[in-house]
Amino acid sequence: MNNKKIWLSSPHMGGTELNYIHEAFESNWVAPLGPNVDGFEKDLETFLGQESHVAALSSGTAALHLALILVGVQAGDEVICQSMTFSASANPITYLGANPIFVDSEELTWNICPELLETAIQDRIANGKKPKAIIAVHLYGMPYQHSEIRAIADRYEIPIIEDAAEALGSQYKGQNCGTLGDISILSFNGNKIITTSGGGALVSSQQEIRDKAVFLATQARDAAPHYQHSEIGYNYRMSNVVAGIGRGQMEVLNERVAARRKNFEFYQESLAQHVEFRFLQEPEGHYSNRWLSCLLTESFEQRERIRLNLEKENIETRPLWKPMHLQPVFAKFPQYSNGTSENLFEIGLCLPSGSDLTTEDLNRVIEGV
Ligand SMILES: *Cc1c(COP(=O)(O)O)cnc(C)c1O
Repeated sequence: MNNKKIWLSSPHMGGTELNYIHEAFESNWVAPLGPNVDGFEKDLETFLGQESHVAALSSGTAALHLALILVGVQAGDEVICQSMTFSASANPITYLGANPIFVDSEELTWNICPELLETAIQDRIANGKKPKAIIAVHLYGMPYQHSEIRAIADRYEIPIIEDAAEALGSQYKGQNCGTLGDISILSFNGNKIITTSGGGALVSSQQEIRDKAVFLATQARDAAPHYQHSEIGYNYRMSNVVAGIGRGQMEVLNERVAARRKNFEFYQESLAQHVEFRFLQEPEGHYSNRWLSCLLTESFEQRERIRLNLEKENIETRPLWKPMHLQPVFAKFPQYSNGTSENLFEIGLCLPSGSDLTTEDLNRVIEGV
């Protein structure tokens, strides 16, 4: 019997990545700049469209940190953050000495709830501080309710930082995720839909914002022959070696999206006769890259039975993200909750979703469930 480990989401190389890395070595561009960095940024800009300008960085977390700086967040400020997300969405708020304000999700997309967002903004203003930014996340690749969130952000004149770390290849009403925020971020960590082993990007429709991000990411050097600094800088630029992996991965991004969407369809169809299971559907206008396929069970106990059984079968799964407002490290920060994310965390399970899964792998998962 085949008992090979099935991972949740593995790196999946296309084949040309090494060619770009060889070029980097042969031309000695083994540095945080060079032709692969430029080329990867161009590839992303072409893919995203909407006159996007891209700064390739060392991680998605670094991109969020710079995005917060670029919208002017300072110590003592408040920043609204979707509670149901990976901790990397919220951590950079605290790097700046600012305070995260957590807002719960709605059931349609599992992302930040528009009504609760507006309640939170009004309440923070009544408390004496208007939030400096809204971090909204496309969880598991499903776009958040962009029109609604955008209308609220515009009404209160608060910039949106779009965390599209999980959503490269997803679309909202035909527009690519990664172009919906005032500033947007992407991640190319090892488990994301495409990877550079580790990496990220900041995206803006404004060239000056992109250029300022690169300036801050390269130690904020003033234009002078000597080293001169008028601002605090960071070492956040992407290496030219890993950018080579990114260029290779961009050649297969569309195939990766198609493969992950097929995994989702397979799970949904194979479990269709089990009415106790539910899957997140795409609301009209939402196109998900289905980065991870998530199963909703009937109860915490059922979720755990399935998770432990799959573990026994050497199949990796993961409960849905534990909301930030329930994390010990963030417990002291204000939160606006409605129970949605807490329930999803209890009954939801992320199934293996890699673009390299075989039909045999997928059948083993179904068998285990
Ligand atoms: C992966 C991820 C990040 C962080 O990206 P890194 O490149 O790992 O730093 C941020 N937000 C979300 C929602 C993520 O899934």
